[in-house]
Amino acid sequence: VKTKQGWNLDNSYARLPDKLYSLLKPTPVEAPKLICFNQPLATALGLEAEKLQSNDGLAIFAGNDIPEGSMPLAQAYAGHQFGHFTMLGDGRAHLLGEQLTAEGKRFDIQLKGSGRTPYSRGGDGRAALGPMLREYIISEAMHALGIATTRSLAVVTTGESVVRETIQAGAILTRVAESHLRVGTFQYVANWGTMEEIQALADYTLDRHFPNYKDEENEYLYLLKEVSKRQAQQIAKWQLVGFVHGVMNTDNMTLSGETIDYGPCAFMDNYDPATVFSSIDRQGRYAYGNQPTIGAWNLARFAETLLPLIDEQEQKAIELAQRAIEEFTTLYHHHWLKGMGAKLGIFKIDHQDESLINELLRIMEKYHADYTNTFRALTNDRLEDKALFEAVEFKQWHEQWQARLSKQKESREAIEELMKKSNPAVIPRNHLVEEALQSAVKEEDYRIMERLLAVLAHPYDHSCEIDEYFTAPVQSEQPYRTFCGT
Ligand code: AMP
Ligand code: MG
Ligand code: MG
Repeated sequence: VKTKQGWNLDNSYARLPDKLYSLLKPTPVEAPKLICFNQPLATALGLEAEKLQSNDGLAIFAGNDIPEGSMPLAQAYAGHQFGHFTMLGDGRAHLLGEQLTAEGKRFDIQLKGSGRTPYSRGGDGRAALGPMLREYIISEAMHALGIATTRSLAVVTTGESVVRETIQAGAILTRVAESHLRVGTFQYVANWGTMEEIQALADYTLDRHFPNYKDEENEYLYLLKEVSKRQAQQIAKWQLVGFVHGVMNTDNMTLSGETIDYGPCAFMDNYDPATVFSSIDRQGRYAYGNQPTIGAWNLARFAETLLPLIDEQEQKAIELAQRAIEEFTTLYHHHWLKGMGAKLGIFKIDHQDESLINELLRIMEKYHADYTNTFRALTNDRLEDKALFEAVEFKQWHEQWQARLSKQKESREAIEELMKKSNPAVIPRNHLVEEALQSAVKEEDYRIMERLLAVLAHPYDHSCEIDEYFTAPVQSEQPYRTFCGT
């Protein structure tokens, strides 16, 4: 039954073994106010956008009321954080339920910043406005870039303060996801559950995300392979747009292949594989260039949880799992190569093109060339005014590239089209995001953020000429730093 506001919630997660969650309601807040509302997303979910923007809707986004059909819960999970295994769980989030759409799809509706839970440890269960707006901006930008991601439906302020390094306005984000199942969910059950429980979780994941498993001989190996496929696709897309996730702990790696947890993430400006933004990643574990390797490492942790289901003989299970992880690496590389080819207007990539790609990246790194703007300049054939474009080695590379393009049967127009849809003109640059957040958080002025969101909704539109969105920041001595968990 559809209810007022359009909620059509199921709670399949609450039918899993009860070790996997704790049922509890969000903690009400003082004086909520709606700050952001994602109307197209609400409509796509079958929700009634207008009613959700009323006080009744606001009460739900604030956790002061729960929608009809909701069984709020906090999920339990574990994870490797910077390589160290630990118990975690939703310490400040509540899953309200799963919205079923008219198309038969199922989406988690989760509040983040909605109060303490049994998994909060020392935390206050709350979130600050700045980081929640940052997640809203970047997740929506990722979606527009064509990268599978959790979405952001709403942000409310709570009327309460949260104490961080400074005192900040409290906020709650409503997050939407195909699911919040993580590698860490399996790690939790594998460590503290029974064989029946891990099997129940695996069956649930197959039913929810990979329903074609029924034809498979070894469905749990299939699960590992399918998750690996989605991660290969996702991480390749990150690399292609210069996205640095920043905290690829196993609890932040979804099984659906959606990018999740926009704490310390940021987009790279000048091309450098060693790029790290997170203030706590001192070893560069999650540097841009390490992301594919970390992806494989995380998938190996996932594989370990499935071994007893993959084969009764441990050695056999290990061999099968190892092969699946090797396939991830091959597949990742395939996606990356194909994607880099498209960025350079190459329709049918062949392995010899790899040296052409790597040579460009080498000179970009040497000349500290801006990643996004270099590909944008190549796309629009505006090779002016940059040290890179003046360099002899670049000119030599350019000749080779043009010769390679001439060997294709496709027209110049078709090549330009391919490059336009493969190279974003605009990304959520750190200085733009910061400027929007400053104005929103300090002055309660949301106009800069709204303009930025509107531009980021069309990242492949190369006709926009507003310079401020394209200008790379001047390289300062103090590199951009991000902070997590706030
Ligand atoms: P994250 O770094 O966002 O992946 O979070 C790691 C863990 O810390 C998760 O279990 C979160 O739920 C928890 N956490 C982060 N911030 C808070 C907070 N303010 N209160 C309670 N738990 C938190
Ligand atoms: Mg429980
Ligand atoms: Mg997390």
